[in-house]
Amino acid sequence: MNFEAMTDSFDRDHLWHPYTSATRPLPTYKVKRAEGCVITLEDGTELIEGMSSWWCAVHGYNHPVLNAAIEKQLKSMAHVMFGGLTHEPAIALGKRLLQLTPPSMSRIFYADSGSVAVEVALKMAVQYQFAKGCPQRNNFVTIRSGYHGDTWNAMSVCDPVTGMHSLFGNALPVRHFVPSPKSRFGGEWDETDILPLKETIEAHENELAGLILEPIVQGAGGMRFYHPQYLREAARLCREHGMLLLFDEIATGFGRTGKLFAWEHAGGEPDIMCIGKALTGGYMTFSAVLTTDAVAECISDHYPHAFMHGPTFMGNPLACAVACASIDLLLSSGWQENVKRIETQLKEELAPAASLPGVADVRVLGAIGVIETRREVDMARIQRRFVEEGVWVRPFGKLVYIMPPFIIQPEQLSKLTAALVKIVGEESL
Ligand code: PMP
Repeated sequence: MNFEAMTDSFDRDHLWHPYTSATRPLPTYKVKRAEGCVITLEDGTELIEGMSSWWCAVHGYNHPVLNAAIEKQLKSMAHVMFGGLTHEPAIALGKRLLQLTPPSMSRIFYADSGSVAVEVALKMAVQYQFAKGCPQRNNFVTIRSGYHGDTWNAMSVCDPVTGMHSLFGNALPVRHFVPSPKSRFGGEWDETDILPLKETIEAHENELAGLILEPIVQGAGGMRFYHPQYLREAARLCREHGMLLLFDEIATGFGRTGKLFAWEHAGGEPDIMCIGKALTGGYMTFSAVLTTDAVAECISDHYPHAFMHGPTFMGNPLACAVACASIDLLLSSGWQENVKRIETQLKEELAPAASLPGVADVRVLGAIGVIETRREVDMARIQRRFVEEGVWVRPFGKLVYIMPPFIIQPEQLSKLTAALVKIVGEESL
C-alpha cells in the first residue's frame, strides 16, 4: 500500500476537509467506489465500512433499490420549489414519517441538513413562545457533551468545550448548560441526576423557550448512552414550566439504538423532533422537523401567521423519493434483528478491549460500539493503521467507535472489531 501515491495533490492543496487544517491537513484516502459494506480506494484497497458515513448509510452503498428510486424520480423532476408547489414524493414521505414518529407529531417541515433542522427547530420554539405571548422566552437549556451541528445556533447548543465556544466569543448566543446525565443506559437511575436541570429551569424559566437534547445517545459530543429516566423527568419539567421539549434524533433515528427512534426507550414524547442522516439511507443531504398540532397552530394563529423559514431546496423530490425507498427498505429488511445481531456481536467482540491498559471504557448500544481511550488518539496514525488492517474507522479525541451499516455480515463485523481491539491495543503500549 503506497500511502503517498494515494494522496491527491489537488485535493490536498485546494479542498478543505472537515475539522482539519488547510495547510497541513490530515491525510485523505481517495475512494473509487463503494458497494454494500465495502469502500474501495483508488489503488484497489478494500475497506470494511465501520462508520456508515457518519450514521447515514444504514443499507450500505450503491443499493439497487435506492438507486432505482432516484433514477425513477429523476425522469419526472429533480427539483421544484416548495413555495406554492407540492409533489407526490413529499406527500408520500410525510405519510411514512407520521407513522414512524411519536403519535403527537403531526406537522412536518422539510429542511436541508441536520444542522439546518436544528436551526429550524430552535426558531420554531422561539416563534411558538412569541406567539404565546412570551417573547422574552427565547433562550434554551441543554446538557453538556451534546452535539447538534455546526451552524450558528446549532453550535451554540453543542458542548461548549468540544464545540469550541471559546473561539467565537460573545458573537455566539449564550445558552444554559447543565451536566449531562451520569446514570448510564442499562444501569441504576440516580435521582440526583436531574437536579441541575431542575434548578436551572426554576432559575431561568422566564427566559427559556425549551430544552434541546439528543435522546439516550449523545453522539459526536462524547458517544455517551444515558438513562431513559432522565428523559421522562426532563419531559415532566418542560411541561410544568411551559417549555418545549426538542429531541434531536438526527443521529439516533432509523433504528441505530435498537429502537426505530431513541425516544421510544423512554416513552416521553417531544414537542419538536429533528431527523436527518439515515433519512435518505445516506444518499443525499435532507432532514425534517416534526412538531405537534399545538405548536403549529399556535405559531400559525398569531402574527406573522407563518413560520419564518423556507430553504431553496426544501422538500427536494429526489431526496423525498430516496427517503421513501429507504424507509420501505428498512421496514422490510428485518432491521431490528440485524441491529440486535450487531449489538450482540459488538458486545462479545469488543469486550476484550476493556482490559487494555489504555482503555477507560467499552460500551455498546444497538449498532453502536465505543471504545473510550484514556488518552486522545493520534488521528493520522491510527487512521492509517485502520486502513492497513482493511477497515474504515474514524475516531476522534478519546473515542474509537463504530456504527456499521445494518446489512453488515458477521465476518465483516468481526474484521472491524478485531482491528479495533488490535489497534487500540497497540496505542495502549
Ligand atoms: N445533530 C446530531 C445529533 C448530529 O449527530 C449531527 C451530525 N453529526 C447533526 C445534528 C448535524 O447534521 P448535519 O451534519 O447533517 O448538519
